Amino acid sequence: MQITLSGKTALVTGASRGIGRAIATRLAQAGANVGFTYKSSEDKALALQKELESFGVKALAMKADASSFSEAQAAVDATLSQLGGLHILVNNAGIARDGLLVRMSEAQWDEVIANNLKSAFNYAKAAARPMMQQRDGRIINITSVIGLMGNAGQANYAASKAGLIGFTKSLAKELASRNILVNAVAPGWIETDMTEGLNDELKKQMEALIPLKRSGKAEDVADAVLFLSSSLANYITGECLRVDGGMAM
Ligand code: NAP
Repeated sequence: MQITLSGKTALVTGASRGIGRAIATRLAQAGANVGFTYKSSEDKALALQKELESFGVKALAMKADASSFSEAQAAVDATLSQLGGLHILVNNAGIARDGLLVRMSEAQWDEVIANNLKSAFNYAKAAARPMMQQRDGRIINITSVIGLMGNAGQANYAASKAGLIGFTKSLAKELASRNILVNAVAPGWIETDMTEGLNDELKKQMEALIPLKRSGKAEDVADAVLFLSSSLANYITGECLRVDGGMAM
């Protein structure tokens, strides 16, 4: 059985690189029109738009800071008007600004909460009304195993990602009657720019925590998002699906 999203339109935040890029690609390969945002990587975003179009779907790269309420609304409006709808929203944009609590600045805290948690509110709020009107929608929030386990040096990141899980479950309850399914995906250690800078010692420690004894790929996360976007997941809402090689079980 092949998963098809033909006739659907998706919006993925933060898709110029890493996991977001892999998600946008998978959704387009399955036949969805895909709008996506980026913050600063314009060249990469325009290259991705071309690549998505090569799958025979409509694609739209949008420069929009996910932490901005008005820019999120504008990105949703552009998706609706230029791609003809919005059925799947993937809140993927995220950052890390690590540091132990005693050294963490107020700015580091605020920046991570605004980019990782408020961003999901910004986009879900803008997307909810059109999804409610069409009685059809999927919202998928990319959280992290760190939101389930906590991690020394990542109190801001863990709080933002744990917050996303509570946000997911609340929206799942609020929007179920309108056939909008809301789920979270919690990646473990995935090879992207975000994790590239980790030192070898830390990478060894991480590997030791993972039963599968290896890091994951952005495509592993994208496959989980594709599943939750599809009709195969018609009876799943309020779930947090770990994609972590067993790390947080
Ligand atoms: P990444 O390689 O650093 O890529 C981040 C992407 O998000 C880029 O496309 C970036 O755009 C975009 N972005 C960042 N802030 C943005 C903003 N304010 N507005 C719009 N776009 C923004 O990160 P990643 O590893 O793919 O992570 C993607 C998501 O997965 C994040 O939410 C992260 O917390 C989560 N996650 C990652 C891992 C992992 O191991 N990698 C594990 C668990 C969870 P520009 O290119 O324009 O900067």
